[in-house]
Amino acid sequence: MADRISKVGVVGAGQMGAGIAHVAALAGYDVTLYDIAEDRTAAGIERVSAALDRQLASQKITEVERAEALGRIRTATDPAAFTGLDLVIEAATEDETVKRKIYRDICPHLSEAAILASNTSSISITRLASATDRPERFMGIHFMNPVPVMKLVELVRGIATDDATFESAKQFVTALDKTITVSEDFPAFIVNRILLPMINEAIYTLYEGVGSVESIDTAMRLGANHPMGPLQLADFIGLDTCLSIMQVLYDGLADSKYRPCPLLVKYVEAGWLGRKTGRGFYDYRGEHPVPTR
Ligand code: NAD
Repeated sequence: MADRISKVGVVGAGQMGAGIAHVAALAGYDVTLYDIAEDRTAAGIERVSAALDRQLASQKITEVERAEALGRIRTATDPAAFTGLDLVIEAATEDETVKRKIYRDICPHLSEAAILASNTSSISITRLASATDRPERFMGIHFMNPVPVMKLVELVRGIATDDATFESAKQFVTALDKTITVSEDFPAFIVNRILLPMINEAIYTLYEGVGSVESIDTAMRLGANHPMGPLQLADFIGLDTCLSIMQVLYDGLADSKYRPCPLLVKYVEAGWLGRKTGRGFYDYRGEHPVPTR
């Protein structure tokens, strides 16, 4: 049954969870946005509201669509709110222990037919599925950041994912006006398997003194026609996220070519995580970003 999704739950009201709630509500789904505390869900709603305002300002949506989308999102901090939902997308912190605990907490409240999905950037879908009571109705639905802007969603089947689950997910993502790409369940899937080693190599290029932050970013923007330089992009993604994806590639594929650059580790240890902390390869605390090396 590919058309049975109407009520959607989102676990985690951070950058990605808020974005997923936003696009699902705009496409007409009833959305339950869940996090560990009310201040988090409130911050998530604020994020959705601000993003809808931007879409309204650029005339991508109307005032009525904005109000209706916000009206379709309710918030929750109790997993009992997941009862009766058709699809729950987990977009919580990229930490396997956290995700496993979430599945333990929410699975007893899910309807038998409900599909559970993870937005993980890099953790094995098959392994996450094994921590649930429904590996055949579990899969990866991997949105890109920022969700309302980026067209692509990677669909990832675990070893046990059944065809009906895959078809339902495909139909849901298509209804959000996104384009799907299908990846096998290997570390970091397709986009990050290619993107993160490129970013890591840019950090090595900086680390080895081949070029400055500005030279490297200008080189890739103008020389390879990338819309953002790799270091600027790393700051945007979050350097902690970049490091954790490189570690997943390194551990999962056991190949030294995925070794995280020591300079990336140093920035993360300093708490210079990019835009979200005000400093990474650039310092964002002033009027214009200034390279930190
Ligand atoms: P984030 O830190 O912005 O948000 C994570 C949210 O999860 C926080 O609000 C946190 O309170 C919540 N959370 C933590 N523990 C929880 C629990 N036990 N129950 C409920 N909520 C809990 O992180 P993010 O960038 O939105 O990333 C979320 C997921 O999306 C990760 O799996 C990440 O790999 C993936 N992802 C991130 C990006 C990106 O560019 N940031 C892109 C694609 C996928």
